[in-house]
Amino acid sequence: MNYKLITAVLVAVSLQACSQQKPHNINQTTTKMDSAKHVPTGKESKYRKLTPEEERVIVDKGTEAPFTGAYENNTRKGTYVCKRCGAPLYRSSDKFNANCGWPAFDDEIPGAVKRIPDPDGMRTEIECANCGAHLGHVFTGEGFTSKNTRHCVNSISLIFIPADSTTGGTK
Ligand SMILES: [Zn+2]
Repeated sequence: MNYKLITAVLVAVSLQACSQQKPHNINQTTTKMDSAKHVPTGKESKYRKLTPEEERVIVDKGTEAPFTGAYENNTRKGTYVCKRCGAPLYRSSDKFNANCGWPAFDDEIPGAVKRIPDPDGMRTEIECANCGAHLGHVFTGEGFTSKNTRHCVNSISLIFIPADSTTGGTK
């Protein structure tokens, strides 16, 4: 009689042990999925990864088709930063409507934009002073605004950060 009772207890204990293993396995799976979300740090996150079209303009100094960019008619308050490195380049307060097919600014954030004589010998190329990303060209003497300057910038070279954005952190 006693022997039968001991056997029954042992079977009961081993069944319980089995049922406790299941939740443990589920926890392990969840942990694996969380660690799969890799957040790049350090050098690899210095520059944003560009799409082929972004690379054509920003790296190979191409020009986006006029009247196709995201920001030509954007009148919201905020800051335009470099698509590649995130450096603040232009303020919305310096943006004006030149109706030329691309976003136009009559001033840059001091020190943010580099001017380089264009290989075509006539125009002046503008680049992000921080990373050298191609932005567009700057023209003077056209009389659009009192500053007499027009930065003609490809939308695709920029990211707009609205002033009311909580993630922007720019003034
Ligand atoms: Zn840049």
